[in-house]
Amino acid sequence: MNKVELLSPAGNFDKLRFAFAYGADAAYVGVKNFSLREGADNLTIQELLNATQYAHKAGKKLFVTSNIYFHEEDIKKFKDFIKEISNIGIDGLIVSDIGIVSFLREKYPEIPIHISTQANTLNSLAVKFYEKLGVKRVVLARELTLDEIKSIRDKTTLELETFVHGAFCVAYSGRCLLSNYFTNPSIYRPKDKPKSIKIEKTRDANKGDCAQVCRWSFYLVETNRMNDFLPIEIEENNATTILSSKDLNLAPFMKELIDAGINSFKIEGRMKSIYYVANTTRVYRRIIDDVLLNKSTPQETLEELEKISHREYFTGFYFEQNRLANTTLKSYLKSAVFLGYVINELEDGYIVKAANQIKQSDRIEVIFPEKNEFLINFSFYDKETLEKKEVIQPDEDFILKCDNKLKEFAILRRED
Ligand code: SF4
Repeated sequence: MNKVELLSPAGNFDKLRFAFAYGADAAYVGVKNFSLREGADNLTIQELLNATQYAHKAGKKLFVTSNIYFHEEDIKKFKDFIKEISNIGIDGLIVSDIGIVSFLREKYPEIPIHISTQANTLNSLAVKFYEKLGVKRVVLARELTLDEIKSIRDKTTLELETFVHGAFCVAYSGRCLLSNYFTNPSIYRPKDKPKSIKIEKTRDANKGDCAQVCRWSFYLVETNRMNDFLPIEIEENNATTILSSKDLNLAPFMKELIDAGINSFKIEGRMKSIYYVANTTRVYRRIIDDVLLNKSTPQETLEELEKISHREYFTGFYFEQNRLANTTLKSYLKSAVFLGYVINELEDGYIVKAANQIKQSDRIEVIFPEKNEFLINFSFYDKETLEKKEVIQPDEDFILKCDNKLKEFAILRRED
């Protein structure tokens, strides 16, 4: 039986706990400044230490992303950072910059190196080069087909990791300057700038601060008719999101991917919610276990991926020879709303953190790592005054009483 790893995103410590509770073998986290997800909460050094200990106690692994592209000014900060985390015992540092790889091999040979997908590794010669440098794993470029991955697998014993789920770039994985251009106050000066666009500083996608410009809706304006916004439409629905890529979803093809000899399957989404992390992890855990046991996975498990927030799905370039960007006409889709999660058990109820507004009239479903069920005979109470409440507001901690037996990591949702 192959040993394969399910690798989940953890934008903060709570998400890490949920990733492990819902079946991840490993999680990847960011530490401020170097992680390509500046918008995620990211971990402090102390949290990184706690997270590593937490992971190891649970028999899991923790990887840290440092996959920005480094300018001279970043190097000193990185050296200080690596000095601070070198004794923590992380299971891998995910990097893209070849200079950083060479620095780490020389000064910190004990830290396992993973080459980030941002390095765009597309062929076996590049993988072998990294092998010679002493790296442990290569996260292959998302622009590869499955046949190309198989061909690389035949030529190396290095650990190979690929993305199986989540957002995709319309550019070659992050090598894109759209965000830098549209957020640079000295270059981008639109006439009649809509108030919603805040341009205060340049947001560099290659430093983890992408403004996701490819998701914006664009119009065409003729200079003598500045108030006439002419839609640039693709196909039906008058969609103007001409650059927004579909999301990757390889859940139905995990057997082919496992058979191809890939060692680790990564879910994208360090900026996504606890619910997203938990439920995608749960689905891929189930599928991987079923493949390894030669069982088929029930359709309803695959359908769980429709109940998390996502764009239209596609299978990336795994089965495409033409590697054309596949843009979507639609914004986010989801058939369920994340309502909150249990943070503590009381003698006669549970403390729940609300993620969205919750009403007494909602039909609430609870998800656990191993099952789903609907909430029976439930009521809400203020945590401080213990007064009964009909409506709970987002971010509120409240007491839930119900006839169900809940536990830590139970997640509440309702149909959208
Ligand atoms: S703007 Fe879009 S394509 Fe460009 S780096 Fe950001 S997410 Fe990727």
